[in-house]
Amino acid sequence: MEYPRVTADDIAFLKQAIGESHVSAGESNLDLHSRDESYHEPRRPDVVVWPQTTEDVAIAVKLAARKGYAVTPWCAGTSLEGNPIPVRGGICLDFREMNRILEIRENDLQVDVEVGIPYRELNNQLRRYGLFFAPDPGAHACIGGMIGNNASGVRTVAYGATRDCILGLEAVMADGEVVRLGSRAIKSSSGYDLLRLMVGSEGTLGIVTRATLKSSSWTRPSWRRSTATGRWPSRKSRCCFSNSTT
Ligand SMILES: Cc1cc2nc3c(=O)[nH]c(=O)nc-3n(C[C@H](O)[C@H](O)[C@H](O)COP(=O)(O)OP(=O)(O)OC[C@H]3O[C@@H](n4cnc5c(N)ncnc54)[C@H](O)[C@@H]3O)c2cc1C
Repeated sequence: MEYPRVTADDIAFLKQAIGESHVSAGESNLDLHSRDESYHEPRRPDVVVWPQTTEDVAIAVKLAARKGYAVTPWCAGTSLEGNPIPVRGGICLDFREMNRILEIRENDLQVDVEVGIPYRELNNQLRRYGLFFAPDPGAHACIGGMIGNNASGVRTVAYGATRDCILGLEAVMADGEVVRLGSRAIKSSSGYDLLRLMVGSEGTLGIVTRATLKSSSWTRPSWRRSTATGRWPSRKSRCCFSNSTT
């Protein structure tokens, strides 16, 4: 299937909507986003966008949906599969400027991040709390690409792969709608498990912008996480409790 090339007018629109310095169709930037660490043939996008917010991602995706452009999310480009290569041209969304740690909940062993943060940088920041994010693919990968590939690594036998360490995601769907999957709760037993489906889908089901990660503790063994049971006088009061804890 042929995809249209992004027009000069649409590149100008992206610059105006997202910021001149966050959009480039310069030769070197197109080249830098044409290959990962695999042997696959390089293919350049038509334009690279460095979104600053989820809204920026939605703007680019809505434009692509309207005009039929391909969209490829990109984090660090260390993939060995060729899957961040923009084989249909179009818009490449590079997440490396969406790299903030939003909240660390030390006692819950949880951290909220934007997906452009490299996992090593995250672990440097978590160290002072005695925490770490377990998946460790070795390369200089970012959380978004690790989610895209369900990255594993040297600690996977003990702690699981990326899919096992994600509690929630914010993602932009193909029509630009922003959805939130999962929650802060460790256990959830009803409904389709869209969260786990999204992890490992290589950006084909949606573009992830934020994530709630399960971290591990260097000092506290996971068995110290406790379970509580409770009785509530009514269904309504139980709902209030569960909403306030998720
Ligand atoms: C030396 C070396 C060792 C490695 N060892 C391992 C290993 O032990 N285990 C392992 O699993 N991998 C390993 N890898 C592969 C690679 O590091 C991982 O797959 C890593 O997860 C890629 O992350 P990235 O940030 O580079 O993502 P990228 O390569 O940029 O992207 C990877 C995929 O995720 C998609 N993606 C990127 N951002 C988003 C987003 N925001 N939303 C949705 N999808 C997105 C991309 O489109 C692409 O399909 C290794 C690579 C190298 C070079």
